[in-house]
Amino acid sequence: MSLNEYHMKAARIVNVNEPLQIQELQTPKPKGSQVLIKVQSSGVCHSDVHVWEGYYEGIGGQPLKTTDRGVKYPLTPGHEIAGIVDSLGEQVEGFSKNEKVLVYPWIGEGMCPACRIGEENLCDKPRSLGIYNDGGYAEYVLVPNYKYLVKIGDDDMDTDISAPLSCAGLTAYGAVKNANLTPDDNVVIVGTGGLGLMSIQLVRAVTGARIIAMDIDDKKLQVAKKEGADIIVNSKKEDPIKAVIELTDKLGADAVIDFVNATKSVEADMQFLRRRAKLVLVGLFGGELRLSLVNMPTRAYKIIGSYTGSLQDMVELVSLAKRGVIRPVVSNRFKLDQAGEALQMLKDGKIIGRGVINP
Ligand SMILES: [Zn+2]
Ligand SMILES: [Zn+2]
Repeated sequence: MSLNEYHMKAARIVNVNEPLQIQELQTPKPKGSQVLIKVQSSGVCHSDVHVWEGYYEGIGGQPLKTTDRGVKYPLTPGHEIAGIVDSLGEQVEGFSKNEKVLVYPWIGEGMCPACRIGEENLCDKPRSLGIYNDGGYAEYVLVPNYKYLVKIGDDDMDTDISAPLSCAGLTAYGAVKNANLTPDDNVVIVGTGGLGLMSIQLVRAVTGARIIAMDIDDKKLQVAKKEGADIIVNSKKEDPIKAVIELTDKLGADAVIDFVNATKSVEADMQFLRRRAKLVLVGLFGGELRLSLVNMPTRAYKIIGSYTGSLQDMVELVSLAKRGVIRPVVSNRFKLDQAGEALQMLKDGKIIGRGVINP
């Protein structure tokens, strides 16, 4: 064997906010229930930018540091991972070499109340790939158990299109599930970028609710209309509160899914909620909200935070994707040594759709 078979390349964050470094690491050897995946596609997600910068925006513009949340550097980012099975631990069943799989990255420690009911994405001590453990900006990634792999088959589900399902797609699907929509509901989707568009496709396919899509960009709104929004509202050109109140016979929206989740967007959301409405907050833009406390009980609002989705949700989502209900749009492809460039482009708003790294 040559040296290369023991070493793999990874694009790593060594220090926050500094250029990513290509490092040679020992290729992990799977034991027990572990599986080594040869990464073919690793999606570039906004969370990767936050992990790279080292913070999220908190109250009053105060940074929420990733290290305070348990992230350790150096770290190989990348949590939207699709590839082929390379080698298997001796206890792995049901998978074989070269099978095409999507990796569930939201791995928990397994014993907390959330993990016990299959909500590992909300684990008290998360071990998510690409955030707390090394992820997919690498030639190989070690998955701690084969149960986190979902087969994507040999049909038209290629790894580039599949990878974004494990975060972008799953976040959209988890939010739609949390909104718990019925066919007579009016739902407002705030923000019609990648996640918003996928949520529109999913709301249409699985709930039958009437969709009001809201954004400040007419081009994105036209795409939203094409993907199934019943009505579009440009909240820069018209008053979003007046628009939703009028569109719902003065009742207000039964649910709002906010993929922006900034102070300004949520302040508006709060003004067009129907009694009993659900407000699902998804985006990581950040900021703060002043809340009328009397309105909470008297109007019985439910404010729900939604973070990615469960392994079961991802299994369901892959089925929906196989049937063409949802299809992430991959717009930019990068090589591993362009990972830093990919993060910078995403940060600068230069990637419309999804960027994918092909190591
Ligand atoms: Zn847990
Ligand atoms: Zn993500």
